[in-house]
Amino acid sequence: MKKSKSIYLTFDDGPVPGVTPWVLDQLREYKAKATFFCIGDNIRKHPEVFQQVVSEGHQIGNHSFHHLKGWNTSTSEYIQDVFLTEELLEKQHPGNTKPKLFRPPFGKIKNSQARELSKKGYKIVMWDVISWDFDSDIRKETCYKNVVENVTEGSIIVFHDSEKASKNLKYALPKVLKYFSEKAYEFKSL
Ligand SMILES: [Zn+2]
Repeated sequence: MKKSKSIYLTFDDGPVPGVTPWVLDQLREYKAKATFFCIGDNIRKHPEVFQQVVSEGHQIGNHSFHHLKGWNTSTSEYIQDVFLTEELLEKQHPGNTKPKLFRPPFGKIKNSQARELSKKGYKIVMWDVISWDFDSDIRKETCYKNVVENVTEGSIIVFHDSEKASKNLKYALPKVLKYFSEKAYEFKSL
């Protein structure tokens, strides 16, 4: 039997009406599972969109409540902000026994913050392929190329289910799903 090759799509900054449900449709079409690093404040604002992500069987990660920059934030304030989201996740997604995943906003986190979070049972998840979908200065074709030219087996790819990224995302994501599905890759959640 042919061994399957896995890649891991991740979506930061949702849930956002219009964008997140569109992402879910694309994933469903390719039987792809992904991981959504949600901003607590967006879960608070859009609980029904959050529930859609959960009900489709995707993995949920914590992306802080206020999308704080770790380097500019005291460790205690930072941890508290992550906990605000954790509390909300426990309420909105009870019985989620999977490992607690955290992705630092902007990919920036102080050592002291990372240490505190791993003490609390968090696994910090970065990425190895960035699409730059949120950068309005890049062309959508470049966004797509950023992904296909850099993905290897086991890659963790970052996209954003945000308004800002949606122009590039809506071009690149369906093409990425198609390209790697045809190459017999499986899209899995973390
Ligand atoms: Zn973010």
